[in-house]
Amino acid sequence: MQFMLQFSLNNMEILNSLAGGGGIYVQVQFTEQPQNKNEVQDMLDFYRPYKLNQISVNKMSIYHEGGSVLMDNLKGKDYEVGTCSAYGAYIVLTDGSVVGCCDEVHIYPKLRDKIPNIFETSLEECKKQSDFLYLNDATFINYCKNCSLYDFFDLNATAKKSINNGYLEISSKVQTRYFVVPEYLSSIPEDVLLFMYENNMVSAIKNFKKGLSHGTDVN
Ligand code: SF4
Repeated sequence: MQFMLQFSLNNMEILNSLAGGGGIYVQVQFTEQPQNKNEVQDMLDFYRPYKLNQISVNKMSIYHEGGSVLMDNLKGKDYEVGTCSAYGAYIVLTDGSVVGCCDEVHIYPKLRDKIPNIFETSLEECKKQSDFLYLNDATFINYCKNCSLYDFFDLNATAKKSINNGYLEISSKVQTRYFVVPEYLSSIPEDVLLFMYENNMVSAIKNFKKGLSHGTDVN
């Protein structure tokens, strides 16, 4: 089960208690906008000591009635019905409606009467009805054709890895993800470290260190 925690950037007490594990995966998501582009490096510097599991810097999407577009008008491949990687992370809304992806809430008013409800039928049945809409409903399909989340997964496929200021950086056209380099590996030359990341050696070392510390996250 996934929970989302929200807290202000300056809540050091919470950050300190989250840093370093305890079985909680901590990710900060930053949406890059024209007004905050120059704050990304400051944000990365701020969070580095807390050794969070991941920081992602995402391109902004702009929503309109028929869909959404990524900032800079980035466009992935054309939509093929039934092939969206983002579909299937079902969400139960507060009124009991069940949707099949987070972007479906933007066409919710248009599909209103067709959307299944957990207060009226089982979750399994809701999923089946939702899947039917996803695969067959013209309004849903037309929205998907212009959905930035579909582009997002496609454009992420060509992500590149590099080492940058104490982070492993995985960047694509639509998103850059940052993973802090463990302190005990920080003196390794960047090209060697990158080789280690690309060959899953860092994961193996982290698991080895975890084992040594009897399950304590030493990220
Ligand atoms: S393309 Fe967008 S709206 Fe369609 S299933 Fe994928 S995430 Fe949902």
